[in-house]
Amino acid sequence: MAFTLPDLPYDYDALEPHVDEKTMRVHHDKHHAGYTRKLNNALEGHEDLQEHSIEELLSGIENLPADIQTDVRNNGGGFYNHRLFWNVMSPDGGGEPTGDVGSAIEDTFGSFDEFKDTFSATAAGQFGSGWGWLVAEPNGDLSVVSTPNQDNPLMEGHTPILGVDVWEHAYYLKYQNERGTYLDEWWNVVNWDQVEDNYHNVLA
Ligand code: MN
Repeated sequence: MAFTLPDLPYDYDALEPHVDEKTMRVHHDKHHAGYTRKLNNALEGHEDLQEHSIEELLSGIENLPADIQTDVRNNGGGFYNHRLFWNVMSPDGGGEPTGDVGSAIEDTFGSFDEFKDTFSATAAGQFGSGWGWLVAEPNGDLSVVSTPNQDNPLMEGHTPILGVDVWEHAYYLKYQNERGTYLDEWWNVVNWDQVEDNYHNVLA
């Protein structure tokens, strides 16, 4: 099997009350597990592709065989996006970023609060299912984007360093249709130390 479902880096209830235990159990054990299983199914019989990292597969999505491209886009995207999502949350998260990503956010958006407003509005405004992202370039530039379904910025040649899942399965059990409330609460668990590490990994 090429890809393995990663364990959560904390307990299922660790992000309470902002992200509830029941949602985390279903989200990780059912949804993320399903994307992982279907990604492996799509790659069955393609031993050459199983040697690649998920980042390589997604950034080269247009070059994959046509008959598996949609399955890898959807399920490989789901595999990668959720792995990143778990890692950019922490029970010790929240607050404001310091370090280089904190400085870059202030330079780009004017202030942390303006960044939060832009990011939340972009994620809230994604029609239907999708993700909100903070994207970094090797020269340090930052931008905020959203993508539909399980797409992500890697598919367009960019690297996400922070992402939030705005599929209803990410918040409906606790927040029902209140995506904005979920996003307001989500800021309390953002793991800025991980975002800083992600930023440094992108910088040239
Ligand atoms: Mn999800």
